[in-house]
Amino acid sequence: MRISQFLLATAKETPADAEIASHRLMLRAGMIRKLAAGVYSFLPLGMRVVHKIRDIVREEMNRIGALEILMPVVQPAELWRESGRWNYMGPELARFQDRHGRDFCLGPTHEEIVTDIIRSECHSYRQLPVVVYQIQTKFRDERRPRFGVMRAREFIMKDAYSFHTDEASLEATYRDMHQAYEAILQRLSLDYRAVAADSGYIGGSTSHEFHVPADSGEDEIVFSTESDYAANIELATGGLPESAVDEAALDCVATDTGDAATIDAVCELLEVEPRRLVKTLIVHAADENGAPGDDLVALLLRGDQSLNETLARQLEGVGSPLRFADDETISERLGCAPGCLGPVRSLGIPVIADHCVTAMKNFICGANRAGHHLVNANWERDCGYDEVAHIRTVREGDISPDGKGTLTIRRGIEVGHIFQLGTIYTEALNASVLNEQGKPTVMHMGCYGIGVTRLAAAVIEQYHDERGIVWPDSVAPFRLVIVEIDAHKSEQVREQSESLYRQAQAAGIEVLLDDRDRKTSPGVKFAESELIGIPHRLVVSPRALAEGGVEYTSRRNSEKSLVAADAAIAMIAELPADS
Ligand code: ATP
Ligand code: MG
Repeated sequence: MRISQFLLATAKETPADAEIASHRLMLRAGMIRKLAAGVYSFLPLGMRVVHKIRDIVREEMNRIGALEILMPVVQPAELWRESGRWNYMGPELARFQDRHGRDFCLGPTHEEIVTDIIRSECHSYRQLPVVVYQIQTKFRDERRPRFGVMRAREFIMKDAYSFHTDEASLEATYRDMHQAYEAILQRLSLDYRAVAADSGYIGGSTSHEFHVPADSGEDEIVFSTESDYAANIELATGGLPESAVDEAALDCVATDTGDAATIDAVCELLEVEPRRLVKTLIVHAADENGAPGDDLVALLLRGDQSLNETLARQLEGVGSPLRFADDETISERLGCAPGCLGPVRSLGIPVIADHCVTAMKNFICGANRAGHHLVNANWERDCGYDEVAHIRTVREGDISPDGKGTLTIRRGIEVGHIFQLGTIYTEALNASVLNEQGKPTVMHMGCYGIGVTRLAAAVIEQYHDERGIVWPDSVAPFRLVIVEIDAHKSEQVREQSESLYRQAQAAGIEVLLDDRDRKTSPGVKFAESELIGIPHRLVVSPRALAEGGVEYTSRRNSEKSLVAADAAIAMIAELPADS
């Protein structure tokens, strides 16, 4: 490709909302342009990278026997009503009506559509397992689109779905997918971690996320220092802290705390650390469908710890999604303002305590009486709970739940997510096949997503420096850039760069020839080749030719060397990957 014929759209300035390196560099390198919040066009340079990633993903899917299909972006509401998600999904699901007033949505994911296809096409256990995938545009009206294509509203995802007669077969495909995802991330030269994850609104039991560690990541991932325990913080649990000093129970006193209604205010007034307090949170209990109903439940945490909402909403008695009771409901139903609630008998609703809370002695909690707290309260004698659960958010240094080592927390970018869905969708949509005995049996299902456009951004987060992107070979939009300098003055320069360009093409090297005329200065040409991150560069200049060759630079180490012009292309063809 000649730059004179390429839409190279580099930019010096980036908008203030481009907060992270990949967003800034994708704009500056001219890979993407914003059309609306979270909606981007891909320019030729960006498209080449997307194609590289897409091809790698496709090859690894084909390798495990997944079959490529393409499903529509526009989806009829009926299928979403069948699965129950039409009402369950919030405004993230972009809904609209056609000219006949029929409800549709833009697909944020395709469980319903694919299950509909498979229930129509597969009738016998002999047709299973079947694994299909597509690489296609998704739309999610994200609450906070940001970081460019990292969290966009419209983005490209590879989503795969598998169907099985039994759980064992689903588990086998899940393992294949896990390996395929590792292969994809390795081919992209990414440093990554697979962690146990929450299934979120997609549902199901077992699930893993693939994270690329980066300070700009929006998730927190938790690892043990000594075992292979790894989980998203949303799901991470910790062991019990070493039990506090074995204190004797002191006399419990109901103390006037006036209008001190927050942990901080009570601590200041009583001159104690937050870890001496029990925090009482009131949420809505589960109704018969598991959604937040009218009844209330109290959740207890140590004053210095915070609630893990994912773990809390997974508890049987707690409504999902988690809904906190408002002040008015609390005062009306519990007869006390939220600031003075405590797990005393008069509370009158089920109480779920975090493990850490149950280990406390001589603690302070609300007295369930306006303006009062109990000081030196103890379990059984003064307070009680009905259930113990892990509902706190783990912290750096907590003991690993398997007892081996302590927990470390890092930020990560979620690039892939795989789920064992079991039968939730296939049951709802009545997707079954006849088993070996000729009896109808509901299919087991798995789903597997990887963000193609998010991966492009994640690679840049890991591969950039102060001058621009430093592409790994597998995703680089071009492998080689040939820069001609002063070609308007030297016919030799022009001829030599044309010859190198043709040789590179003949050798199957993806090459970009910077043939821009003298209006583009050598300095700009160099800076742009570095900004767009091409791994290898050959400079053809009158000076280098006079010295007997062309100048070679690797984007990775910036060292310059002079190579004989007729040996240059062979040298580049033989360079090992990522050198
Ligand atoms: P997140 O927690 O980041 O919102 P998610 O859990 O909603 O992601 P999944 O439904 O598991 O995402 O989608 C599979 C993959 O699609 C993600 O791992 C990610 O790579 C990609 N993806 C999801 N949402 C976006 C988005 N808004 N922009 C770009 N890629 C996305
Ligand atoms: Mg996810």
